Amino acid sequence: MRVAVIGGGPGGYVAAIKAAMMGANVTLIEKKRVGGTCLNVGCIPTKALLACSELLMGIKEAKSYGINIDGEVNADFESMMNRKDKIVDQLVKGIEFLFDKKGVNLVNGFGKLIDKNKIEVSKEDGSKEIIEADKIILATGSVPIVPPIFPYDGKKVITSDEALYLNELPKSMVIVGGGVIGCEFGQFFRTLGTEVSIVEMADQVLPFEDKDIAKQLQRAFKKDKIKLLTGNKIQSFKIKGNVVVANLEGGKSVEADVMLVSVGRKPYLENLGIEELGIEVEKGKIVVNEKMETSIEGIYAIGDIVDSPFLAHVASKEGMIAVENILGKDKNINYTAIPRCVYTEPEVAGVGLTEKQAQEKCIDYKLGKFEFRGLGKAQAIGKFQGFIKVLADNKDRIIGASIVGPHATDLLSELTLAVHLGLTVEQVGDAIHPHPTLSEGLMEALHDVHDECVHSV
Ligand code: FAD
Repeated sequence: MRVAVIGGGPGGYVAAIKAAMMGANVTLIEKKRVGGTCLNVGCIPTKALLACSELLMGIKEAKSYGINIDGEVNADFESMMNRKDKIVDQLVKGIEFLFDKKGVNLVNGFGKLIDKNKIEVSKEDGSKEIIEADKIILATGSVPIVPPIFPYDGKKVITSDEALYLNELPKSMVIVGGGVIGCEFGQFFRTLGTEVSIVEMADQVLPFEDKDIAKQLQRAFKKDKIKLLTGNKIQSFKIKGNVVVANLEGGKSVEADVMLVSVGRKPYLENLGIEELGIEVEKGKIVVNEKMETSIEGIYAIGDIVDSPFLAHVASKEGMIAVENILGKDKNINYTAIPRCVYTEPEVAGVGLTEKQAQEKCIDYKLGKFEFRGLGKAQAIGKFQGFIKVLADNKDRIIGASIVGPHATDLLSELTLAVHLGLTVEQVGDAIHPHPTLSEGLMEALHDVHDECVHSV
């Protein structure tokens, strides 16, 4: 079976490797570098930079741990950026190495569908190659949304793509959009010394999450002196000399050296040939069934171009489902237990339903909650802000969980498994959890669902 994949992000490259491992003859077409948004301008570089700001925050708090640091501690922005680039380069090489070992044929160039079984690849040197395949997977990802009112120039008004390649630390930055990307960048730049303002239309940052969760992060932002302008919309702008001036609807205005627009992303489907082939698209996204197959038999679509959360792990899972269906298995995608992670300090993570969603859906739920400050481990490591909350339905099944606090993103996996398998509060809460760990907080929150939590008052 010949399988061709267009796009080498976490959707496409995982699908390609999986297909090769299952015995297919695989070609992957990528116009830039393998790894896609996630590896080159998304998940990995942002986390590499956040690791620097987290360490810096830790060093600044060293005195409270009995560690005296003589002399000034300061951040070397250029070295941080270089470190981030090295990590990305190494991981890109890692994928290329895996392609070699597993037998994926990588073709560099821009892929366009010319019929159900043919892709035309336009290469940098101007040449063209036709790739023929029995099945095709589209995985072309997404690009930042920049609404026309923003005078985007990639220098003063930028997106996350440019924020990762700034030559120097801006003195001030206004971030439009307090979602995951806005919050992560906001905290990184603020920790390094930039004056940061975040303008968010909703009345909280991370609008998808519950209010009590967002409040914890907002408290940390206020402590860091990040200016939060929630419930505010930008009406107009001016670039005055070297300064960007954003006028807000209520009459206020914010000035900064740089404006970062992080209001969302949109599928990248340009020149892919989907209209010519009649592939169904709805609201800018490719329509697929539970097998990840488009309206044209034999052509599949995965990742940020379909109607599912814009997350790397979702793209990879969809890629695997597509490949399994292509190669004779019968698998359906299941979006019940998608982990959501925000790598700020404190971290925020969630899976399944939020409390807000459970209420909107009129679900009869019970809630268990536990504060990190009640844990010996949290006190020992000096990180005790935040809490864990767990939602269970009337059959005692865990249907959602949200965490704000230390290592929330790593802690989430136990509850992700619980939601994925439809486990009950008793099944998970009965398990012995190691002491002293932060995971004891999960157990305590589960016990709290039945008012049986030993360590809460
Ligand atoms: P992409 O990763 O966008 O890859 C698509 C690839 O296709 C690209 O390499 C592109 O060059 C190529 N391509 C496009 N068109 C063509 C064509 N016609 N021919 C050839 N090649 C083509 N997600 C998380 O899960 N965790 C995070 O922490 C996280 N952090 C993020 C931080 C930032 C700043 C951003 C911007 C995103 C972040 N994301 C995160 C989201 C994540 O990066 C995306 O959801 C994920 O990369 C989507 O994968 P994909 O394979 O669908 O597409």
